[in-house]
Amino acid sequence: MSELAAGAATPALAPNGFRDTWCGQVLADRVDSRARVAGWVHRRRDHGGLIFIDLRDRTGIVQLVFNPDSSGASFELAHRLRAEDVLSAAGSVVRRAPETVNPELPTGAVELLVGEAELLADSETPPFQIEGYAGEASEDLRLRYRYLDLRREGMREGLALRHRVTAAIREFLDGEGFVDVETPILTRSTPEGARDFLVPSRTQQGSFYALPQSPQLFKQLLMVSGLERYYQIARCFRDEATRADRQPEFTQLDLEMSFVGADDVIAVNERLLAHVFERAGGPQVELPMERMGYEEAMARFGTDRPDLRFGLELVDLGDALRETEFKVFNSVLAGGGTIRGLNAGRREMPRSELDGLISRAQELGAKGLVWAFREGAGWRSPTAKFLSAEELAELNRRLGAEEGDLLLLVADKPAVSNAVLGQMRLDLAQRFDLIDPDDHRLVWIVDWPLFDWNEEERRWDAVHHPFTSPAGAFDPDDPGAARALAYDVVWNGQELGGGSVRIHDPEVQRAVFRVLGIDDETAEARFGFLLEALRFGAPPHGGIAYGIDRIVQRLSGAETIRDVIAFPKTASGFDPLTGAPAPVDEAQLKELGVAVHKPNLAGH
Ligand code: ASP
Repeated sequence: MSELAAGAATPALAPNGFRDTWCGQVLADRVDSRARVAGWVHRRRDHGGLIFIDLRDRTGIVQLVFNPDSSGASFELAHRLRAEDVLSAAGSVVRRAPETVNPELPTGAVELLVGEAELLADSETPPFQIEGYAGEASEDLRLRYRYLDLRREGMREGLALRHRVTAAIREFLDGEGFVDVETPILTRSTPEGARDFLVPSRTQQGSFYALPQSPQLFKQLLMVSGLERYYQIARCFRDEATRADRQPEFTQLDLEMSFVGADDVIAVNERLLAHVFERAGGPQVELPMERMGYEEAMARFGTDRPDLRFGLELVDLGDALRETEFKVFNSVLAGGGTIRGLNAGRREMPRSELDGLISRAQELGAKGLVWAFREGAGWRSPTAKFLSAEELAELNRRLGAEEGDLLLLVADKPAVSNAVLGQMRLDLAQRFDLIDPDDHRLVWIVDWPLFDWNEEERRWDAVHHPFTSPAGAFDPDDPGAARALAYDVVWNGQELGGGSVRIHDPEVQRAVFRVLGIDDETAEARFGFLLEALRFGAPPHGGIAYGIDRIVQRLSGAETIRDVIAFPKTASGFDPLTGAPAPVDEAQLKELGVAVHKPNLAGH
């Protein structure tokens, strides 16, 4: 275990009747001294006359040897010990015979010759082996017995790393004068774009608290209070459709500052990230970090979360095909769509895999996908025959295609071609192993649009949230042109955090609400307290929030955020350990004045 991965330091041990030494500290320098250790039976081996027990605590594993001559009554006990029993054992530390030294274990050069031992607790046979066989236990089973799952070294390291991250955050922000303030969990809806979890009020029947989707409004109120610099490691709740690797409750680092513009917030946060990465064994962060405008990110990578560690950039090809006779392209362009493409480089791909790419593009929402290999001046592609020699030459030129390069094109609405090619670019990077695992790219995405047209609902949505300040003059009659003072920080293609400078003028806030279809009356009813506070001298302010679960997951290399959360829920929001969510007593419902129309009898 590396020192960094170990997380919290090994605390000094005050000797007591249970132990005087950590298992992981029974090292060669203790030879010829006595030690008492306590922990869990990790493994037990019966070697003829001798019994070997690997005893495990948080710091590591030490080998205990029970010998019929020197261990006395404990030898009988050793016979009965089973995996995960809890034991305290004392004896003398001796050097192992050279052929039994275990180089894999830090304590592998020595062992504890047990003189006396006491069984502190019995364990039933665990439902899965603690070490080494995690892959065989289903995640449901691991979550059902999470306290056993957390006995595994990898899981412990994940929590320790998480601790290092939050400790580094607190250390840095404390040094910068940020004040840690708790905000309510029982509150009103905060619009972050998800569904609320509701809690019925017993005393005001028919009324509900909402669990916060974020502390957004409270942190703004704290700026009106004159707190100047606030942070909180806050639990947030979003009842979202279960998307891959999300949790209904998750942890944010939330912060807010007064008398700042976007550059000020970004500057502090760059130093914060550099500090946290340094403390948590992450990549070195070069300051100042790179910045990229939203439009550029979309144009070059098809996403606002670009992974900059490899090329395969998107190219707009519409202009080269304005006059094309090819109906498919033609009608897309006539309908206001785009034709975009990327050059995947010189590749070999069998027809079956190319067909797979087409299905993948369709799965991602495109009607189709054009593939081609540059061959001579033109293409080898089923589509080649529909395009003129000039068009092919121009497409090759724009895509920088050389002999044998694989080209992929999507003709569709801009949002679709971006989403499809943006994802295929990532798929191809995986397929062709284009990412150097030691390369790290952090980038701020800036200069966002303020609103986004929601075609389905035929209304404007806030790209960040309704409290984000417009950049420069704001014309409510032309929402599509409005830019936002917003910024997201992206690490290797994953958003780590995002925030903005806020609106601090109640009139601008009302105007933004109106664009979002929130009329003055509704605004008053839902956010009257914020609008009112903004009338009592609100300083210019801005902030950001980070997903801590995601940051720790990325730093630890874990596959899912569930591996760095002590007690997570399954992908469907169920907790196999406690059985939550669970039905409640009729009497409890009655007390709350709540009637359930269609109880979900399946439970989950
Ligand atoms: N409240 C925002 C969020 O939770 C972050 C911010 O604007 O500070 O995403």
